[in-house]
Amino acid sequence: MTASDSTRQAGLAIIGGGAAGTLVALNALRNATTGMQIALFEPASTLAQGIAYATPWPEHLLNVPAAKMSALPDLPGDFLDYLLQADALPGVPREVLADTFVPRRHYAAYLQHRLDEAQAASPAQLQVVHDAVVTLHPSEPLCELRLADGDTWQVRQVVLACGNSMRPLPVPGAEAPPPGRVVDAWDYDGVRLLAGDDDLAIIGSGLSMADSALALAAAGHRGRIHVLSRHALLPLPHAHGASADFDPQPLLALPLRARLRALRGHARDAEAQGVPWQAVMDRLRPLGQALWQGMDEADQRRFLRHVVRYWDVHRHRIAESVHAQLETLEQSGQLQRHRARLDALLMQGNTLQLHAHSARGGLAPLSVSAVINATGVETRALGMRNPLVQQLLADDHARPGPHGLGLDSDASGHLRTAQGEPHPNVQVIGSLRIGTLWESLAIPELRVQAQAAAVNAQ
Ligand SMILES: Cc1cc2nc3c(=O)[nH]c(=O)nc-3n(C[C@H](O)[C@H](O)[C@H](O)COP(=O)(O)OP(=O)(O)OC[C@H]3O[C@@H](n4cnc5c(N)ncnc54)[C@H](O)[C@@H]3O)c2cc1C
Repeated sequence: MTASDSTRQAGLAIIGGGAAGTLVALNALRNATTGMQIALFEPASTLAQGIAYATPWPEHLLNVPAAKMSALPDLPGDFLDYLLQADALPGVPREVLADTFVPRRHYAAYLQHRLDEAQAASPAQLQVVHDAVVTLHPSEPLCELRLADGDTWQVRQVVLACGNSMRPLPVPGAEAPPPGRVVDAWDYDGVRLLAGDDDLAIIGSGLSMADSALALAAAGHRGRIHVLSRHALLPLPHAHGASADFDPQPLLALPLRARLRALRGHARDAEAQGVPWQAVMDRLRPLGQALWQGMDEADQRRFLRHVVRYWDVHRHRIAESVHAQLETLEQSGQLQRHRARLDALLMQGNTLQLHAHSARGGLAPLSVSAVINATGVETRALGMRNPLVQQLLADDHARPGPHGLGLDSDASGHLRTAQGEPHPNVQVIGSLRIGTLWESLAIPELRVQAQAAAVNAQ
């Protein structure tokens, strides 16, 4: 491959400038001992926001206390240091801040600040390119990237940090309503604009539903909020209290059914000693990847079919204050939960009609003025609406991960071809590794993966 005049070059290309890609850039800048060229590709105008940290609204909190959100594994208090230096929450002392679920917007500001500092101190050069990568052709020694604007790049190392894509509403009619009638929960401003007297529906009952319901309440919504989902389980709250005192290691050797039995036993024992069940889940948290990888394929399938909904509400918890607000909305009757599967969305005059059925049969149609899609992250590779992911699959540069989830990667995070061979110069981090690792979405995993990816790419 020879570089033409219009082909640009870099030592490291990071595709995606959400939290994960920004963490890779931060680590690469911090590690650099030479004037290496790093290119970070991100279509959005602001780095480090991605989906989770793009919300400007104060009611959208981190779902992890500030003390656990450092970007840097070797500096566990780094996020707290930043919050104090930036006076982000004036007057709140460090020990209180450590336990606080702070607004998510502070996290993007923190990562941007640390990236700016690293850039100023590093001999390496970071170039941010505000465009999407649409094709990647891995090769040795150089990979070729093409951007949406047609530019091409040749790069020595690639890190894919493309993150999350929203699941589309899986019903006929979802594309038909006029603009503004079906809004993604991650369109944080769009959701607030729906607030008013009209009834609304939110499809999905997880963390994005909580975001949307709280945003509507904060914007003064007075109409009803129908929450429709197949299991209608709300995310559960974090709890304060003592930590659970048991050795989780033996769980790794058990098959799924025995594991779940043992886990319930640990939760009962903890509660008998006045320790919240949440502490049992916290004890398991560092073993998330080992628990997944320790199951055989059949147990992983059973987990995905029968357990995952219950796992998610226990594992992905929300701040107690957020949970309390959801309860208040529900107790007042403003938020109404429906355990049902959505069948169709029909525009009738000026209203949207939702047709759904539950295990007991059809539900009376719900009439609403708009629908919020809070069905969450698309984890199936073939369903991801990211042209780059689809190109990698179509060209056999990648294959879906176990159970079709994410993209397949080896133990060190290198992308595997359709034939299962790892690409030596293409790494994957974050949610694209879900099928291989399961726990690969949140900052505690991302900061470790980003550090390792930056070292491998040196
Ligand atoms: C609503 C929400 C709240 C969350 N809250 C927390 C929390 O409190 N604590 C926690 O630890 N985790 C939280 N998470 C988990 C969260 O996913 C991670 O913390 C983190 O934000 C993921 O970052 P990411 O960069 O991997 O993905 P994303 O945020 O999805 O960012 C990916 C970026 O890649 C870009 N991109 C995609 N394709 C291309 C391409 N082809 N070319 C160029 N750029 C591309 C996108 O534009 C995007 O900016 C939350 C997740 C969500 C959805």
